[in-house]
Amino acid sequence: MNTSLPMIEITALRKSYGDLEVLKEINLKVETGGVVSLIGPSGSGKSTLLRCINLLVVPDDGAIRVGKTAFSFGQALQPPRSRTLADFRSRTGMVFQNFNLFPHMSVLENVMEAPVHVRRLPKAAARDMAMTQLEKVGLADRAAQMPETLSGGQKQRVAIARALAMEPEVMLFDEATSALDPELVGEVLQTMQKLASDGMTMVIVTHEIAFARDVADRVVFMRDGYVVEDGPAREVIENPKSEATQSFLSHYH
Ligand code: ADP
Ligand code: MG
Repeated sequence: MNTSLPMIEITALRKSYGDLEVLKEINLKVETGGVVSLIGPSGSGKSTLLRCINLLVVPDDGAIRVGKTAFSFGQALQPPRSRTLADFRSRTGMVFQNFNLFPHMSVLENVMEAPVHVRRLPKAAARDMAMTQLEKVGLADRAAQMPETLSGGQKQRVAIARALAMEPEVMLFDEATSALDPELVGEVLQTMQKLASDGMTMVIVTHEIAFARDVADRVVFMRDGYVVEDGPAREVIENPKSEATQSFLSHYH
């Protein structure tokens, strides 16, 4: 019997921007080593939810636990201290649509940056760590190059290596392939698939429905700030229960 706690546990999470309630009452669990794909129309709150998981966005109410670190939010509570936040974020790898590599640093320096400046690893150890992660994404031979000499797919794989270099407990992907030319999408999805099969806990916002079906354990469909459907990936994609999910997915067939 598996009695271990889920790696990520989100309870009754709420977030508003002014009068706009973007997350209405989100409950979500992700098992250790689990891969959850978040899908849904634009504006449904996917990015906000992902940003709440690493507290780039601070929720108004509810609770979040990642690994051993738990936060509660609400009127009566002080927001977490900035030091606590920074610490927490550094253990939660995030990959965005636009890779945001440092243009004036080599690939290796990009991946070493956080281990040296945030984790305070000695340079040699950070370099080893960075090379290990670059090998994992298949770009060890590009370590000395500048980002501008890489393709979009390679840049995104460097961004993944950079996140991994902090040895995160979870990896969050926000439309990591949406800005790529179609022929470059595959190599990034492949890198993500490998991470998943290595046992990384992942939450993936994506429009790649086939990828969600094949790689995620679970698919969560969001609309208007609610989780509308949450189930085994293949079941949700191929046989969605809610009309909203059916209608959303019909645009992809
Ligand atoms: P998705 O990623 O599913 O497209 P988002 O989480 O980005 O959805 O956005 C959900 C809603 O919140 C949208 O209506 C968006 O305009 C709004 N929103 C997102 N971020 C902000 C912000 N920083 N300030 C105000 N409104 C925001
Ligand atoms: Mg988004």
